[in-house]
Amino acid sequence: MTKKPTYQKTCEYCQKEFLSCRATTRYCNVKCNSRAITESRRTKKIQKHNNAQDRKIKKSIPPEFLSISETAQLLGISRPTVYKMIDTGQLKPIRISERVVRIKKTDIEQLNIIQPNK
Ligand SMILES: [Zn+2]
Repeated sequence: MTKKPTYQKTCEYCQKEFLSCRATTRYCNVKCNSRAITESRRTKKIQKHNNAQDRKIKKSIPPEFLSISETAQLLGISRPTVYKMIDTGQLKPIRISERVVRIKKTDIEQLNIIQPNK
C-alpha cells in the first residue's frame, strides 16, 4: 500500500504549493531542500560572524554606556518603554554599530525618574 500525498504544503524555499505524503515536509523537492539548507548555513555563518563582532565591540564599550536592557533595569521599566523614550527623544541613543545601541548613564541620571527598588 502506497501512501497518497494528502498534505497541501507550501514550499518554504520557492513558496510553490505542492502535495506531500508527510506533514513535516517543508520543501517541494530535493533542489529546494538543499538550497534552503545551504542558505540557512550561510545565514548562520553570517550571524555567528556578526555576533563575534558585536561581542568584540561590546567589550570595548566603557561602562558608562548602558545597553537597552540595562537601561530598562536601572529605570525599572520595560525594554519597549526604553525604545519609546528613544522615539520621543527623552533618551539619546548612541549607535555603536549597526546592531549595538548604548545609552549614556549620565543621560539616564538626568531623567531623574530612577526608582529606588532596593
Ligand atoms: Zn520549492
